[in-house]
Amino acid sequence: RIVYVNGEFVPEEDAKISVFDRGFLFADGVYEVTSILDGKLVDFPGHMTRLARSLSELEMDAPVSDEEMEAIHRRLIVENDLTEGLIYLQVTRGAADRDFTYPVGVKPSLVLFSQAKQLADTPMAEKGLKIAFVEDIRWGRRDIKTVQLLAPSMCKMAAKAQGCDDAWMIEDEHITEGTSNNAYIVTKDGAIVTRNLSNSILHGITRAAVLRLAAEAQIRIEERPFTPEEARNAQEAFVTAASSFVMPVVEVDGVTLGDGTPGPIAKRLRELYIAEARAAAI
Ligand code: PLP
Repeated sequence: RIVYVNGEFVPEEDAKISVFDRGFLFADGVYEVTSILDGKLVDFPGHMTRLARSLSELEMDAPVSDEEMEAIHRRLIVENDLTEGLIYLQVTRGAADRDFTYPVGVKPSLVLFSQAKQLADTPMAEKGLKIAFVEDIRWGRRDIKTVQLLAPSMCKMAAKAQGCDDAWMIEDEHITEGTSNNAYIVTKDGAIVTRNLSNSILHGITRAAVLRLAAEAQIRIEERPFTPEEARNAQEAFVTAASSFVMPVVEVDGVTLGDGTPGPIAKRLRELYIAEARAAAI
């Protein structure tokens, strides 16, 4: 694989980052994951807007312009013959003597790499996810997409240990989100419920698109926190993320939802989302 590191496109084994990089020492950095369909970028402006916000919340400068960032993405697609998959981009504050205060005048580090992956036709979408409930042990600024992912990684491992595919994390008796996705239930009367935007969750780019598509399809939407009890009583459920689009959930906390297969609303939103993503990709 060819990867991008600080201005250069190099084979992955030749890529180098300083041991003093604050991404490595402090998880002082942010990232984005953009999906690729038919060799094109899905929702790229949305990811650039969120990246700018994450950087600004951490008082970091953008390492390159949006145009340059787009050009780097395109070159990685070409260099790696990518038709379907993901491009991961990471900006860290850069290398400096280890100190808790932000260093001034250091150059941020920029790393990008691609991952080939079948996104649209995946067996998981037919099967649906099994979800475990796990305490949300993350920090208080989940709206910033930082690279400190050990807490959600631990939550996902706890779910796997219970034989589930992923965790929905619980704080103050309400679900925040999945370990790497936003969480939704569909009530018995057909309304979609998903947590409202705040510092408690990541503001998903896929979430914004899916809620817009649901509104256009005249599906009722309630943006509010929901309880584990509501999830267990749901008609159906699903998650959204750039890397999985809309992924149906068929079991929560050991309770089978509906008939145990992906629900009609999740399936419909997945189809609508993928159709639009393909048509609008750049
Ligand atoms: N929530 C968390 C914690 C995430 O890590 C992610 C994405 O990886 C999402 C939600 C979904 O965001 P997006 O739709 O922008 O990928």
